[in-house]
Amino acid sequence: MSDTYFQLFRVAAERAAMFRSRAARLPQSPRKDYRAMLELFNAPVPDQGGVPQEIVEQLADTAEQGLQMATGPRFFGWVIGSSHPVGVAADMLSSAYGQNTGNHQAAPAASACETIAARWLLDLLDLPRESSVGFATGATVANFVCLAAARGEVLRRAGWDAEGQGIFGAPEISVLIGDDAHTTVFSALQYLGFGRDRVMRVGTDEQGRIVPAQFARACAGISGPAIAVLQAGQINTGDFDPFTELVAMAHAAGAWVHVDGAFGLWARASARQRPLIAGVEAADSWATDGHKWLQTPYDCGFAIVRDELAHRRAMTIAASYLPAVEGDERDPSHYVPELSRRARGFATWAVIKALGRIGIAEMVERHCAVAQAMAAKLASVPGITVPNNVVLNQFMVRFAAGLADEVADRLTEETIRRIQRDGVCFAGGAKWRGQQVMRVSVIGLETDMAEGLRSAEAMIAAFHAARAKLGV
Ligand SMILES: *Cc1c(COP(=O)(O)O)cnc(C)c1O
Repeated sequence: MSDTYFQLFRVAAERAAMFRSRAARLPQSPRKDYRAMLELFNAPVPDQGGVPQEIVEQLADTAEQGLQMATGPRFFGWVIGSSHPVGVAADMLSSAYGQNTGNHQAAPAASACETIAARWLLDLLDLPRESSVGFATGATVANFVCLAAARGEVLRRAGWDAEGQGIFGAPEISVLIGDDAHTTVFSALQYLGFGRDRVMRVGTDEQGRIVPAQFARACAGISGPAIAVLQAGQINTGDFDPFTELVAMAHAAGAWVHVDGAFGLWARASARQRPLIAGVEAADSWATDGHKWLQTPYDCGFAIVRDELAHRRAMTIAASYLPAVEGDERDPSHYVPELSRRARGFATWAVIKALGRIGIAEMVERHCAVAQAMAAKLASVPGITVPNNVVLNQFMVRFAAGLADEVADRLTEETIRRIQRDGVCFAGGAKWRGQQVMRVSVIGLETDMAEGLRSAEAMIAAFHAARAKLGV
């Protein structure tokens, strides 16, 4: 058996290293799409077990034909970090160790490492040090965890025990949220019984930021328990709600303030970007991702709650066979919905050590500078516009060429298709204010100025080719 481990793990590590070391040279789009990949994987359930090494090689041979190049230096799709190699190596160990990271007795090393990583996160993000941190799958679940803590606490203040009695018959909770909040926050609200459509949506400006006057009006309508959801880093514009003003208004109305900062919260880690996000520290809870700007491997997100008791009331799992909390041991399961789960703290700890405080700040600043330069280069071409003010690492591009909206939409779609087909770089599309745009998220670990500008050139070439093809 011991030979099997060495052979098997060596094959996996070699395949992984081969893939990653070639990422910059490969086309930045998958070679095969979902349907083609379905064909390749399609087979009946095997009756007999197979040969370990062959299985791993077959998986790699097959999967590599349809991988998205999210770890490449010219990948700008969605908002996807690129799994820092040190984090990946740590994650390989997490898998091999097989630690069930539910509590400190089942997983002493993993629990302790997570405790320290949690402290480091509060330090790097400069959030209240008394806050508790749950290591979740991503920002969707982190938002859910924080909003569950919020729900429990605002009802507790109104004399209602949500954790024990549920929410039927409870005092109604007003939920305020910006019109340009991320779709997954509405999902989190849906899971919690708030309803996606029942919440009070507050109007936003051209950058997707909540308009203070409209927020003030919404606050004036609050009577009783309330939660306000703000945003650090709008998915298309990268911009921030004006926290100082909004948090004060929400608190004056007695609301719990939650901030979705999936990627944008990391602006805190850089002295240069930090003024953009001033006042965010006055909120009550924050959700952010590890697997976006921090570059931890998938999956990893953090639910940060100022009031640890509220956090624990919402999430604690208690059973006679689980250890009671006596001393100051921290059980990972008290801060997230899962009991059994992987040791996310190992990869988080390792990536923070690999980058360091200065490395994280430099990376954030580099990505913002590359976004600025790419946007400027694109906008300098007649017919190409950048609809947002580039304040962070996200921007949009519209290939309109002065055409009527509907034709401009088609030209933008055709340009995106060509960019993806050419494979020099990768970016996807979205609708913004009813118009088709291309979204660019500068977040790759290896994305620098040269890679960014080379990508902008490829985008411009695709635009000219798309124009020629459509004859516009
Ligand atoms: C990505 C993102 C989310 C969801 O995070 P996941 O890690 O995909 O679960 C939520 N809000 C914002 C602003 C995001 O960018």
